[in-house]
Amino acid sequence: MSLDLHKYVVSVPDYPEKGIIFRDILPLMADGKAFKQATDEIVDYAKNKHVDMVVGPEARGFIVGCPVAYELGVGFAPARKKGKLPRPAISSSYDLEYGEATLQMENDSIKPGQRVLVVDDLLATGGTISATIDMVERMGGVVVGTAFIIELKDLNGRQKIADYDCKALMEY
Ligand code: IMP
Repeated sequence: MSLDLHKYVVSVPDYPEKGIIFRDILPLMADGKAFKQATDEIVDYAKNKHVDMVVGPEARGFIVGCPVAYELGVGFAPARKKGKLPRPAISSSYDLEYGEATLQMENDSIKPGQRVLVVDDLLATGGTISATIDMVERMGGVVVGTAFIIELKDLNGRQKIADYDCKALMEY
């Protein structure tokens, strides 16, 4: 029987600043059945897309992306916060819901023509995922889908990635 995943998300008012409701997804990740269901739903979404690589931004994008890549039998490439990669990297900067940031990927982590699924825990304004997509495409990757556990509808992130197929398991 399928679980209501909403029950595993804890809403934290006034975090990280007053007026913001932070959707804490760590309780979902800490529950084996809920985490497996979320992973399986993303794998179901991706399994007919002939994905070659999964990409996810630091840090919860790693937690979402790695089990999906494992299930699909493909590799995972991280988009890391600036300054953490030892080899030549490409960068993309973006506005966060709260602040600004730069992500980086090793510049040979996606091969031209590879079909890429880009995932994260949550879609808010779409800045993080757009920066990640930008790097994948500059390396020649083809983004065949994007997937999130949560989408924050009011922030219109989906509009920013309107050119891409997008799956969100839950909406807030
Ligand atoms: P965006 O770039 O505005 O779409 O923000 C999405 C990124 O910020 C994701 O990587 C999330 O992990 C993080 N984020 C923003 N808001 C929340 C939240 O309410 N809960 C958990 N993560 C969030």
